[in-house]
Amino acid sequence: MSMPDAMPLPGVGEELKQAKEIEDAEKYSFMATVTKAPKKQIQFADDMQEFSKFPTKTGRRSLSRSISQSSTDSYSSAASYTDSSDDEVSPREKQQTNSKGSSNFCVKNIKQAEFGRREIEIAEQDMSALISLRKRAQGEKPLAGAKIVGCTHITAQTAVLIETLCALGAQCRWSACNIYSTQNEVAAALAEAGVAVFAWKGESEDDFWWCIDRCVNMDGWQANMILDDGGDLTHWVYKKYPNVFKKIRGIVEESVTGVHRLYQLSKAGKLCVPAMNVNDSVTKQKFDNLYCCRESILDGLKRTTDVMFGGKQVVVCGYGEVGKGCCAALKALGAIVYITEIDPICALQACMDGFRVVKLNEVIRQVDVVITCTGNKNVVTREHLDRMKNSCIVCNMGHSNTEIDVTSLRTPELTWERVRSQVDHVIWPDGKRVVLLAEGRLLNLSCSTVPTFVLSITATTQALALIELYNAPEGRYKQDVYLLPKKMDEYVASLHLPSFDAHLTELTDDQAKYLGLNKNGPFKPNYYRY
Ligand code: NAD
Repeated sequence: MSMPDAMPLPGVGEELKQAKEIEDAEKYSFMATVTKAPKKQIQFADDMQEFSKFPTKTGRRSLSRSISQSSTDSYSSAASYTDSSDDEVSPREKQQTNSKGSSNFCVKNIKQAEFGRREIEIAEQDMSALISLRKRAQGEKPLAGAKIVGCTHITAQTAVLIETLCALGAQCRWSACNIYSTQNEVAAALAEAGVAVFAWKGESEDDFWWCIDRCVNMDGWQANMILDDGGDLTHWVYKKYPNVFKKIRGIVEESVTGVHRLYQLSKAGKLCVPAMNVNDSVTKQKFDNLYCCRESILDGLKRTTDVMFGGKQVVVCGYGEVGKGCCAALKALGAIVYITEIDPICALQACMDGFRVVKLNEVIRQVDVVITCTGNKNVVTREHLDRMKNSCIVCNMGHSNTEIDVTSLRTPELTWERVRSQVDHVIWPDGKRVVLLAEGRLLNLSCSTVPTFVLSITATTQALALIELYNAPEGRYKQDVYLLPKKMDEYVASLHLPSFDAHLTELTDDQAKYLGLNKNGPFKPNYYRY
């Protein structure tokens, strides 16, 4: 594959004289020398299951991708444009063929393909990096021979990814990682284009696994790459078709949950192929956490409450990446923002950014909006909720729905009134109302959409990780979990720069020598905090 204009990359095998900090450098086929990621332990209070401990069918819903934990870091448009008047016959019962006579798919209604195609074309507008990858690969097909089995949200944006992988030479079979998030018309458009897609919005538990199984278990076709979001597909292959791993060259996993499971497998010595953790790549994280939340906090609040932010007093719990994004947006609209933090460094950052750092108790009576984004639990307790003023809006932007103690509100003396989709008024005996959004689940994923550009970053990262793992010579990657090489992270960013007509400055030879860098990157050591 040719190299990008925005950031010329060295050829295959070229040695980089990167700074001393990069110690464990290895060569990568697609890029130049990069660093094997240190193993990173990610702790989840609520998600410590191992693959082997997965619940079976019953009870699976709570763990599964349905409203899954990892959907916090695997964004999809919350909305589906599916016509609710679709008939109720299960797609599994239907005989459908696309215009070329193929029935190698299972979607809600193949007739929606044209509508879905328009959705995909709209998404392509803001996913120029993938389109540019397609163009670059016109001659060389870096995924020729790749047979990718995928399990992700099936939305217009993922369709752009899937079709890019096909354009790069791959064959794809795809199912949904979430039983609700499939855009039926998009699945139809993919099926019409010849992708073996097995997904529809509103799958049952059984359908969910059936779809995954149809992707993996196909006569005459065996996957050699896995692209997963949440680990369910990987789990299924481990459980049902362990022999498939003999041919698998690698797993690319996008979600926090799935990555956590891979690290667990690796730790237990059960990971039998290389895996790439794209969740923790710098570019993706910045976009998912900081920039995405900076935009979607306002979107989610506006859509649900029509609130005006100017002059409102808002307390944001947690000044990490998500908190910083939320606060920047709220401040820009004229809100008076307070921060709560447990970490003195983040608290000091908040002070430097002009926010008052307080304890929640100090402001809880006066604030108009409470937003949690700590990744912690019981940050907003019943005691806080009791003390809030009338009409206070309460919502969560963190991973888990336990940041706000919603359970404590389910007591007989309080009345719940559903006033809009995702909006509940919780009414105290004296008439006070608290406006609870999305029942304490992630506000932006429940009540707004995620910008296509954010998804473009993720999708490009996934595509590059697949290319790298697929093309890597034997031995480069062991049975371990790797972070996306820094150089690829930079490449993902560089592919998105032309959207902004941004012009990078190139290091002179002299400057490169002075800084001890290769002119083509990587430009930062692995420990650099962006
Ligand atoms: P982070 O670790 O950078 O920030 C969390 C901050 O909360 C930290 O600074 C921590 O010190 C602080 N904190 C922890 N407990 C606290 C408490 N009791 N009171 C006050 N502050 C407390 O993490 P992040 O990247 O900002 O992510 C935060 C959460 O949001 C995570 O659960 C993450 O999974 C989730 N997330 C959500 C989205 C989204 O779209 N809504 C996107 C990415 C991540």
